[in-house]
Amino acid sequence: VEQVPGIYRRRIGRTVVTALSDGYLDQQFDQMQGADVSQMKATLHHAHRPPNLRISVNAFAVQSAEGTILIDAGTGPALGTHAGQLGRSLATVGIDPQDVSKVLLTHAHVDHASGLVDANGSRVFPNAMVFANEEEVAFWFDDERMARADAIRKRACGFVRAALGPYRDRLETFRWGDQVAGLETLKSNGHTPGHTCFKLTSDGATIMFWGDIVHVPELQIANPDISIVFDVDPVDAIRSRRAMLELAAHERLLVAGAHLHFPGLCYIDRTEHGYAFVPEPWIAVL
Ligand SMILES: [Zn+2]
Repeated sequence: VEQVPGIYRRRIGRTVVTALSDGYLDQQFDQMQGADVSQMKATLHHAHRPPNLRISVNAFAVQSAEGTILIDAGTGPALGTHAGQLGRSLATVGIDPQDVSKVLLTHAHVDHASGLVDANGSRVFPNAMVFANEEEVAFWFDDERMARADAIRKRACGFVRAALGPYRDRLETFRWGDQVAGLETLKSNGHTPGHTCFKLTSDGATIMFWGDIVHVPELQIANPDISIVFDVDPVDAIRSRRAMLELAAHERLLVAGAHLHFPGLCYIDRTEHGYAFVPEPWIAVL
């Protein structure tokens, strides 16, 4: 039996933010670093989570009088059929890919950027400008660095170039601190060199799209020192994770996460040694 398409709307001031499920990915335990495997398994058991690392892949639409923008674009056809469901979710919401004017990338990894292109390598969002941090673009298009990179990075690079190539003349880079489509850009490098969180404020309401600050919320929010093998620089990734968790806790921010359990909306509280996440319950009225 197939689940219904995953969509969830939330008003933020004068905008409507829609969580769009792209599906899920199964990761391996040996991809997590910084804690004992038996301890991590016990934590997930305690949290009533399946023993494999099954993670949600979420993108978000922001709709306002200025138009429709997307934060990240899912996996597209790159990683099999459990993910790559963004098109189905967009259709359910009634968003035509032609009407998406901007796609903001938290970073360019396959599960965020490959949905920009279809199985033929053509643009899915023909009228969209794509925005990525200048460090992100410089890193993935550095031929010398990629020639020296390990197999994980080389594979990731192939996906990045296939996704961004067709948008080469529609790609705009930004620096941390710039406003992009009215959103604040926050430095949170480490997972990738240009990883960026986007903060949207409208009529006094705020939401932070934090991309890949965590991949396995039960593990990495409780213990921010746990990293994933896809972190380009694990030390920076841990520092950024701690900084964004602290910011979210301090400002009582609503967080929208690419890998938080769908619909990916939660708040962060401090605990004795780390943090805890508080999923936001269903809101019936926009
Ligand atoms: Zn990701």
